[in-house]
Amino acid sequence: MTDLGAHVVILGAGHAGGTAAALLRQYGHTGKITLVGEEPIPPYQRPPLSKAWLKGEADADALALKPLEFYADNGIDFLAGVRGVKLARSPKELTLSDGRVLNYDILILATGARALKLPVPGADLSGLLELRTAADAEALKAAVGPGKRLAVVGGGYIGLEVAASGRALGAEVVVIEREPRLLARVACEALSTFFRTYHEKNGVTFELGASVTGFVGENGQVTGVTLADGRTVPCDAAVIGVGATPNDEIAADAGLDTARGVVVNLEARTSDPAIFAIGDVAHRPMPIYDRMFRMESVPNALEQAKQAACAITGRPAPAGEVPWQWSDQYDLKLQIAGYAFDVDEVLLRGDPASGKFAVFHLKGDQIQSVEAINSPPEFMMGKQLIGNRKPVSKAKLADPTVSMKEVVA
Ligand code: FAD
Repeated sequence: MTDLGAHVVILGAGHAGGTAAALLRQYGHTGKITLVGEEPIPPYQRPPLSKAWLKGEADADALALKPLEFYADNGIDFLAGVRGVKLARSPKELTLSDGRVLNYDILILATGARALKLPVPGADLSGLLELRTAADAEALKAAVGPGKRLAVVGGGYIGLEVAASGRALGAEVVVIEREPRLLARVACEALSTFFRTYHEKNGVTFELGASVTGFVGENGQVTGVTLADGRTVPCDAAVIGVGATPNDEIAADAGLDTARGVVVNLEARTSDPAIFAIGDVAHRPMPIYDRMFRMESVPNALEQAKQAACAITGRPAPAGEVPWQWSDQYDLKLQIAGYAFDVDEVLLRGDPASGKFAVFHLKGDQIQSVEAINSPPEFMMGKQLIGNRKPVSKAKLADPTVSMKEVVA
C-alpha cells in the first residue's frame, strides 16, 4: 500500500541514490527523505572523472547532480561523510558509522560498487591509484603531467579513458592488460583492434597478455610494475582499473538475497518488501534478454531510481529501457546499446579506418547489441531495434549506403 508520508532512507548518495531522492519529491512523496553518503560532497556524475575532470575541463560544481541547496530546499536530509554500517530489518533500523540510528519505513540501498584491488606484493606503495571517486580523480590528476610515466593496469573502458586523458596531459602512458586483447570481456575483436591502433597512434604503448605480479618502489613510492615474465615496467604512478565489485555486504549481512549484487525485481524491490536496491549494487532482471545481471552504467542507475520511486509513490512502473552506455576517448565517441548475449553472428557496418563504423551483434536476425563509433544513427536505431525485437535484413544492415532509416523500415 502506498504511503506518501513514509520515512524513506536512501543509503548511498551517488548517481542512483541522488536521483531517487529527487524523483521521490517530484512524484509527490511528502514524508521524510534521508540521504546518507560516505563521500563528503553531494551526489555527482562519475563519467567525467576519467574524461573532462581529469583533463581539467570540469570542476566539482559541473559534476554535481544538483546544487547542495537543492536537498534542504526540497526537504531532503542529506547526511554527508557518514557510512551505513549495520542494517536491522526488524525493527527497521540503519546504524551509521557515527553511532546514529535511523528508523526507516522504506530503505533504498544505492551503495554502488568499489574498485577491485590487486592482491599482489607492493600494492600498498604510494602512487598506486584507483578511480572511483572525485577524490581519486584529484589524486590521479596530481600524479599525471608532462613527462610523468603512468602505468594503467587494465585495458577496459575506464583504463582506456584514463590512458587518453593521460596523453592529453602530456604523460607517457603504458596500458598493461592480462588478456591478449583490449576490452576482452566487453567488446568484439574488431573494436579491440580499432582502439589499440587508435591509442598507439596517440602514443600509448601496450603490454597485452601480461599478468601483473607486483609493484616495486623506492622510499615507499611506486617505481615499477612487475610482470609474470620477469620484466619490470617503470612508472611514476599506476592506476588499477581491473573492475569493480558491488557494495552488497550490508544487504547480505541482513539476510537479503544477493548474487554478486542485491537481487531485485522490476520494481527494484529486494526480497524484503520494505527495501529497494538500485544502480551498480543491484542484480536486476532484464526482460529483453530473459535473464538477470548487474550493470554499471548511468542509464541503469537512472532507470532503477525511477522504478523504485514509482513503486514507492504508487505510480505505474516505467516502461522497460534498452541498456546503454558510452565511452569518450580522444575525438572518439563510442555508444553501446544492449548486451551481446547468445550471439551467433557479428556484423560490421562501415570501415574502421574511417573512424566511423558500427558493430552489430545478432542472434538469428535480431540485434542483441550494437557498438557504434562516431555513428549516432547506428546507435539510436540499433537501440530501437533491440527494444522492439524486430527482425532485420542483414544485407541492408551491413551496407552503409543503405540508411539506418531504411534498415529500420
Ligand atoms: P555510485 O555512483 O558509485 O554511488 C554509490 C555511493 O554510495 C558512493 O558515493 C559510495 O561512497 C556510497 N556508499 C557505498 N557504501 C556506503 C555505505 N555503506 N554508507 C554510505 N555510503 C555508501 N557509466 C556510463 O554509463 N558511462 C560512462 O562513461 C561511465 N564512466 C565512468 C567512469 C568512471 C571513472 C567511473 C568510476 C564510473 C563510470 N560509469 C560510467 C559508471 C557510472 O558512474 C555508475 O554506473 C554510476 O555512478 C552508478 O551509480 P550508483 O549510484 O549505483 O553508484
